[in-house]
Amino acid sequence: MSRDAQAALSSWSLRRPFDRLMGRHSREKKARKALSDWTRDVLTRAHDAQRASVAQIFQRSQSLEATVEAGMNAGDFYELARQTLDEVFKPKLACKRGCSFCCHIPVAASLPEIVNALMFARATFSAQRYHSLTERLARADEAVQALGPEERARRNLACPFLENDQCSVYEARPVACRAWHSLEVEPCKQAYEHPESPPETPTVAPVLYAGDAVREGLRLGLQDAFLDGQRLDLVRGAHWLASDPEAVDRWLAGVEFPEEVRFTPPGP
Ligand code: SF4
Repeated sequence: MSRDAQAALSSWSLRRPFDRLMGRHSREKKARKALSDWTRDVLTRAHDAQRASVAQIFQRSQSLEATVEAGMNAGDFYELARQTLDEVFKPKLACKRGCSFCCHIPVAASLPEIVNALMFARATFSAQRYHSLTERLARADEAVQALGPEERARRNLACPFLENDQCSVYEARPVACRAWHSLEVEPCKQAYEHPESPPETPTVAPVLYAGDAVREGLRLGLQDAFLDGQRLDLVRGAHWLASDPEAVDRWLAGVEFPEEVRFTPPGP
């Protein structure tokens, strides 16, 4: 866990016993309001702490190491917020190792998150395994180049980081991947088999919102450091970053990234 995330864990007052808070409100409506206020408090603190932390990282140094730290830091802040929310909402997730339906959905991630995933792979994979990853990235990038966002979402293209239905960079995966979840496997299967009309996935909203809060904190923290905080398409961005050794330096120098690697969500 990064230095900043550890400091945040010890200073946050989010971990007070939730029962005590709710116990003060005997009427259901008041209890619901207290829960909603508390959740908003968790999300706001996660957002603000993430924003301040990222800005501090790049104030200390503008380097590849700082970029990796910022990506790792986003994962840590999400896990912190998530741990806090899980204690209260106790979600019973259907997600388990080897279930990879959602790893066929396009993912949006910031540049530091993608650099963190690539550097994790570089540091922990054998040369042959890393080479296979770069080949998968090249093939996937080529496959998506000509597709519009809607067609891309319907194609069920496997994420190049997927190996044997498991995430090969699980410890360094982007916040979007950490936050996405389902309470039932059947809708995920249906969405995979019928991507043209996916059913609603049952989720715990605050768990998803925590991802949004941390990602937005990260975007604004990067903006505070005068860096391009827009999200990239994970496939296109990872291939670009893995194949261009100067890409991170240019980004650190304030150059915006190429239009074609930016994430465009499907829909109107
Ligand atoms: S990075 Fe990992 S968790 Fe995210 S879509 Fe790819 S394989 Fe799945």
